Amino acid sequence: MGTKVAKFGGSSVADAIQIEKTRKIIEADPDRRYVVVSAPGKRFDGDNKITDLLYLCKAQIDHNAPYDQVFQVIHDRFMAMEISLGVSVGLAGLFDGIRARLRDDPSEDYIASRGEYLSAAVVAAYLGYDFVDAAGLILFDKKGRLLQDETAAAIGAELSKHRNAVLPGFYGSRPDGSIKTFSRGGSDITGALVAGAVGADVYENWTDVSGFLMADPRIVKNPRSIGRISYIELRELSYMGASVLHENAIYPARKANIPINIRNTNEPDEPGTVITAQEEDAGEGGCVIKGVAGSKDFCVIAVYKNMMSVEVGFIRRLLSIFEEYGIPIEHIPSGVDTVSIVLAKKHVEDRLPDILEDFERRLQPDSIEVFEDMALIATVGKGMAARPGVSATMFTALYEAGVNIRMIDQGSSEMNIIIGVENKDFETAIRAIYGAFVDAV
Ligand code: ASP
Repeated sequence: MGTKVAKFGGSSVADAIQIEKTRKIIEADPDRRYVVVSAPGKRFDGDNKITDLLYLCKAQIDHNAPYDQVFQVIHDRFMAMEISLGVSVGLAGLFDGIRARLRDDPSEDYIASRGEYLSAAVVAAYLGYDFVDAAGLILFDKKGRLLQDETAAAIGAELSKHRNAVLPGFYGSRPDGSIKTFSRGGSDITGALVAGAVGADVYENWTDVSGFLMADPRIVKNPRSIGRISYIELRELSYMGASVLHENAIYPARKANIPINIRNTNEPDEPGTVITAQEEDAGEGGCVIKGVAGSKDFCVIAVYKNMMSVEVGFIRRLLSIFEEYGIPIEHIPSGVDTVSIVLAKKHVEDRLPDILEDFERRLQPDSIEVFEDMALIATVGKGMAARPGVSATMFTALYEAGVNIRMIDQGSSEMNIIIGVENKDFETAIRAIYGAFVDAV
């Protein structure tokens, strides 16, 4: 018998109807022994996620405003689930306990974590699985950094005592027992940590889409879905904006060499996307690329200095300026005497004049040019490596679409080509690249 860890996102546990679908999925495969759940998400457009309501409670408390109404909405949603599912979780008592904690200065992380806590309690009761709290298993240090080895050991030791269990996602605890959450969407990380700790055969991540698509459906009409992708390729794509899975969920699964399977709770027969260590040359239907993704609003600072290439320490001095400002850098394409720094605009904003002044003073360049409103687009796929004609295909398509390319950066693995275009050309460029590689196959 194998072991699968199945994580269900907010939409999969949004109400009793969704939890019923979740139960069917779990019961269809006895290997699905360990289940990680998010807090209930939106049931329909315009609905609220429980986690958002919990953060709202905290904001009301901080502003000395009454929070009872918001708290009541949360209470009623869980109570409705308990009644509709016909389980008895003792929610009334659990809510009394939380209410009491809210009265004496609770932390934001504690409040936010209660959505997952209650969700796991309900799902465990409904499945007849053991409820295993994540506090005490997902371990952080005093500063809030995840203790990976200790966490794996604690999860492994605890779950070895349970044939089947449901765990709340999103949070763990610090050495003093206080609750610490991951960043938003962090139940994905809990699922990956549990999968790694129990040596699962697969980490299933059940959500409301059937895996990753080769392009953003808001830009490309009916893009194909990605059947298989490697961790590295996915990282290149997610980095540019395709987010179905929390990016920090990839590392624990990858480290333990556990494939991640993204599945759709509403379409359980669809295979979804499998993310593995193996890179395959061809994507869907023999396509060279796995996907194309990008983001708008980058800014490029292009520096020119005669004989830059022989000036020892130039790049280090340049980079140290950004380090001092605490600004992360996306790319550094360079020529013999030129170097361009590509940064997300949100990190620069009104600090740009100060940065440029530091450049002038500390680097004495011959010229500096700033391009704002740049978009970056990554075209990703192992199949692109060592295949002649890939860039020709891409650049011809962009030329034919009338897109001016402002920057080109090819990773040394030849697994991705990143181009910079003006924001206004972003959608046209994505459609052109997708069309050239995918529609043409
Ligand atoms: N409930 C949390 C959030 O909404 C964590 C999660 O669902 O993964 O961000």
